[in-house]
Amino acid sequence: MQADRIKNLFGDRLKEQEPLAKHVNIRIGGPADFYLEAKSSDEIVRAVEACLADGLPFVVFGGGSNTLPSDEGFRGLVIQAANRGWSIDGERVYAEAGVPSAFLARKTAEAGLTGLEWAVSLPGTVGGAVRGNAGCFGGETKDALASVDALRVADGKVERVVYTPVDCRFGYRESAFKRSADIILDVEFELAHAPKEACLAKLDAVLSQRKLEQPSDNPSAGCMFKNFDFTDEADIAKLKAALEVPEAFLKAKRIPAGWLIEQADLKGTTIGGARVSPKHGNFLVNLGNATASDVLQLISLVKMKIRDLYGVQLEEEVQLLGF
Ligand SMILES: Cc1cc2nc3c(=O)[nH]c(=O)nc-3n(C[C@H](O)[C@H](O)[C@H](O)COP(=O)(O)OP(=O)(O)OC[C@H]3O[C@@H](n4cnc5c(N)ncnc54)[C@H](O)[C@@H]3O)c2cc1C
Repeated sequence: MQADRIKNLFGDRLKEQEPLAKHVNIRIGGPADFYLEAKSSDEIVRAVEACLADGLPFVVFGGGSNTLPSDEGFRGLVIQAANRGWSIDGERVYAEAGVPSAFLARKTAEAGLTGLEWAVSLPGTVGGAVRGNAGCFGGETKDALASVDALRVADGKVERVVYTPVDCRFGYRESAFKRSADIILDVEFELAHAPKEACLAKLDAVLSQRKLEQPSDNPSAGCMFKNFDFTDEADIAKLKAALEVPEAFLKAKRIPAGWLIEQADLKGTTIGGARVSPKHGNFLVNLGNATASDVLQLISLVKMKIRDLYGVQLEEEVQLLGF
């Protein structure tokens, strides 16, 4: 594998055989051949261009909070988006992809801007949040998004492009970025002025709620599965025959994956070092010595049981790296 250009560009800053477990929340993952913490958008662009010229595979990630790397790691360059510039101009907020979402939520609330408070408990970066349209406590990344500046990578070439929210085709934990090789470089949000005290109170409320609901004792990648959205009652006929489905879920046309897992009595199920959290069914936690293979086996088991019992096909929310 040729990596001359990337080595010449970044010298000692380029790590070799870097364990990915060190860089992801779930603390699992073998070595990346090469690893770069890119401190600016320009560095991300130059690294990508060097990889394309050398024919070196690459991947860009952010905070690693929604990523499960394989036990074998990654053959090529893993670029961590660590571009962390941000600024506020009136109601417009500009943030580079590597800015931690929770940091931006706090800074905007402190500036008396409302719209991102929900993200104060969200692990990871703005880039990762945009790609997955992350959300919680009634907020979603798309809600306040004004534009995305991205690097389009296609046919061995790169091009800077600006996307509108419509271009991004956001859905529930979905965006056009999940179906392209585009790299998110920076993002603009449009927020609204509000009393600072009210914004700060919202931060506190979100953090308290998170503490109540979420297991914090073992590492995880957050919710492993997307909640199940249905359009037709026929999609949940088997589920309704097996369980009494709460009215609120039927009204929202969304069945929480964690609830399904709990009903199927899967909480606490363990394979190797991976366990379905006894506190929250949608969290698969690393007991300390889990491998990616343990987690994948547990994912398969959960999906199979839920499909067999309720006719519901769960889909992973977590992003796999290096499989
Ligand atoms: C304890 C815990 C709680 C969580 N709670 C929630 C929650 O309530 N709601 C929710 O939606 N999510 C939740 N998550 C998941 C996660 O925090 C979000 O998905 C987050 O937005 C991911 O950001 P990240 O930077 O960590 O992404 P990463 O894990 O680094 O990357 C995720 C994916 O995005 C890609 N990516 C990252 N940055 C870029 C970029 N700049 N350009 C292109 N692609 C990129 C990566 O290649 C990967 O495929 C939780 C996770 C944990 C660990």
